[in-house]
Amino acid sequence: MKFKEFGIKKDILNAIRKAGYEEATPIQEQSIPVIMEGRDVIGLAQTGTGKTAAFALPILNSIEFRKRARVRALILTPTRELAIQTFENFKKYGRYMDLKTVCLYGGAKKGNQLSQLKRGADIIVATPGRLIDLYNEGVLDFKSVDYFVLDEADRMLDMGFVPDVRKINSLLPEWRQMIMFSATMDKAVEDLANQMLKDPVRIQVAAQNDAAETVDQRLIYTKGELKDTIIIQFLQNEIKNPENLSLPRKDRKNAIVFTRTKKGADRLHKALVKAGLLAVSIHGDKTQGQRKDALDRFRSGQVQILVATDVAARGLDIPKLNYVFNYDLPEESDNYVHRIGRTGRAGESGIAYTLCCEDELHLLYEIEKLMGKEIPEASTEWSLELDRTKFKRHNKRNNYRRNFARRSYGDNKNRPRRNDKHRDNRNNDNHRANRHNDNNRDNKHSRNHRDNRDNRNKNN
Ligand code: AMP
Repeated sequence: MKFKEFGIKKDILNAIRKAGYEEATPIQEQSIPVIMEGRDVIGLAQTGTGKTAAFALPILNSIEFRKRARVRALILTPTRELAIQTFENFKKYGRYMDLKTVCLYGGAKKGNQLSQLKRGADIIVATPGRLIDLYNEGVLDFKSVDYFVLDEADRMLDMGFVPDVRKINSLLPEWRQMIMFSATMDKAVEDLANQMLKDPVRIQVAAQNDAAETVDQRLIYTKGELKDTIIIQFLQNEIKNPENLSLPRKDRKNAIVFTRTKKGADRLHKALVKAGLLAVSIHGDKTQGQRKDALDRFRSGQVQILVATDVAARGLDIPKLNYVFNYDLPEESDNYVHRIGRTGRAGESGIAYTLCCEDELHLLYEIEKLMGKEIPEASTEWSLELDRTKFKRHNKRNNYRRNFARRSYGDNKNRPRRNDKHRDNRNNDNHRANRHNDNNRDNKHSRNHRDNRDNRNKNN
């Protein structure tokens, strides 16, 4: 469907043309008319489907320039990267309109954001914590907000932002129209939608578990200690070859390598650099400046390899991405779908390699269960034979554990996970006391044991 069929203003149509879009994507086709009608919307869509324009275009279409800007649309995102990306999208689509858009996120100094706000804003894109911070300083007024967008609602829940979101919602006028997007839909997201949206229209472009159809997925089952060798060799062949490097920067092949932990990302980044590969990395411990700098260099094609953790990379739009590498498998299966969804975007093809070793079989099992299909194996000189019977045996045990947790805690997102015990103990003030009690129990046990032994000896 062509954009002009929606009845969008000329200025915006020109901006869309300039962005090079010819037709609306399925999520845009479904959302734009409904939002223009004034209905609340709950959309199930991942980054890469064109969901930002799906809400940005109808919002921009309804906002008129006024001399004194007042906040008309508020967009909340869980991460600063997604906030910046969404902000840039609003600027792109509104380039021929005289509107003030401001982006507010934590990890950066408040001064600049404060002075921008004082000059007035029609549209605010923000992360919840910083928005509340600035609201408390008395520089924000939400009385004229017509549109409230909650992007990546599932991530907001995971990251514990829901109390902040509720607080912000309570400051908005009754009449505001609300649009909520989520990459996944579970009971917690449903509950949030039921509480905040009024008679929403439901929009879904792909089944929740459909990993982007355009992504060619390949599994390399191997030993953990061979992963570095495999990845370095691959990147040297595919990325660092003279042919690729002789292309103009924007046409060069590139790759994102995902690791499960920040430490893992740092270690792998060092190993790649040591092997002569030019790479940048992003994770939660990097400063806002470092993250932005790394992303700018990667997006501009100055560097072709980005090492990232799930949280840092969630929702990032990298326009052209050839390879996704799962150095290790994510603890949460949903993240696999998000990771591979970085490539194969807007109809382009991409390849997602997953390195899996025996310790990770239970994670692989969960991912394949979520997707409803097996990831095809790629044979390499380092590949081991994957014995799926072992795989099933292994998982019977893990399923039992998981089901036990589920029976005890229901589908509560906060139910204990595999590594929680250790984490809880570390953070638990009672840990010492517990250990002390355990010691007492042990002592008592050994005392009983000693007494029994002494009695036995006496009797003998
Ligand atoms: P999003 O899901 O909003 O992050 O968008 C993913 C990518 O698709 C971005 O690079 C957008 O610029 C691009 N995009 C959005 N809408 C269209 C469209 N109708 N045609 C082509 N590309 C689009």
